[in-house]
Amino acid sequence: MGSFSIQSLRVSKEADLRLAVLGDPVDHSLSPSMQNAGLVSLHLPYRYVRLHVRPGDLVEAFHLLRDRDFIGWNLTLPHKLAALDLLDGLDPVAQRLRSVNTVVNRSGRLFGFNTDGAGFIAAIQEAFNCDLRALRIAVLGAGGGAGQTVARHLSELGVPSLVIVNRTVAKTERLAKDLAAQSKTRIRIEKWDRLADVCGEVDLLVNASSVGLDAERIHEGWRALEPRHLVFDMVYGPQETSLVRFAREKGARATDGLLMLLHQGVLAFEIWFGKPAPDGVMRAALWRAAGRI
Ligand code: NAP
Repeated sequence: MGSFSIQSLRVSKEADLRLAVLGDPVDHSLSPSMQNAGLVSLHLPYRYVRLHVRPGDLVEAFHLLRDRDFIGWNLTLPHKLAALDLLDGLDPVAQRLRSVNTVVNRSGRLFGFNTDGAGFIAAIQEAFNCDLRALRIAVLGAGGGAGQTVARHLSELGVPSLVIVNRTVAKTERLAKDLAAQSKTRIRIEKWDRLADVCGEVDLLVNASSVGLDAERIHEGWRALEPRHLVFDMVYGPQETSLVRFAREKGARATDGLLMLLHQGVLAFEIWFGKPAPDGVMRAALWRAAGRI
């Protein structure tokens, strides 16, 4: 299934289109497979679709979805920050994280939530079965939307130390200052070229950068991984990422972002419908859509 544009959704007569993911690009999103499986499983007569929305069209898209009585929608790159200004209310978590990935339409009033942070925590717990609050953590690519959300969430949890690594250091200075003022977590900024040293100081490495293992600038640093490390790569694709494979070859425990996609989607479903999501069905559908089973 492809994507709708604002124009094609506007003229569509399909009344069951009541949920969507908005992004630019959005064609790659696996969310429709997961969410539609959940809807079918609970006999809910709605459909979840991809909606291609450019940054300049976000306001128009929100009006259209509200007018068409959509139940809610997800936001992906690059809309999670811009959406903050388009809502009638904001959940405290979304407010603190400065990022919205889930909108719910309550009788024409739009409320924003963020399920990425909780989805990330649930994915880490499922993958590694550990107490995050005891871990020294590095977030790589913390200048991006996903990295900032995760870094904010981890500092709220009060992890002992957080190293923030980003290509553009200036982008993380404000974040580091904010976090240091609000939590007891020890916060430090580092550059990518110090990755090998950072590895020596942390237990968990979270890759939130969109760059893969093959990028020449980070390649050497990853060689410092040891069997004691946990590696969480937020990136996902049909196969496990090259970073996950590399980390496992080094004896570390590693997982990619598909689990986080699942957990943030399950939480979004529960916000829209106010009842437990059929997570087993959604998981199987997502794994199938990703080509993992
Ligand atoms: P984003 O806002 O575009 O941020 C990209 C980050 O990657 C920035 O920190 C950027 O650094 C860094 N980066 C890009 N190219 C680089 C390079 N060549 N060398 C070093 N750093 C580089 O993207 P995002 O929304 O945060 O998403 C990041 C990744 O997480 C994506 O792959 C996305 O699919 C994934 N994600 C997964 C989930 C999930 O549920 N699993 C949820 C959200 C996002 P600069 O600041 O220096 O530009």
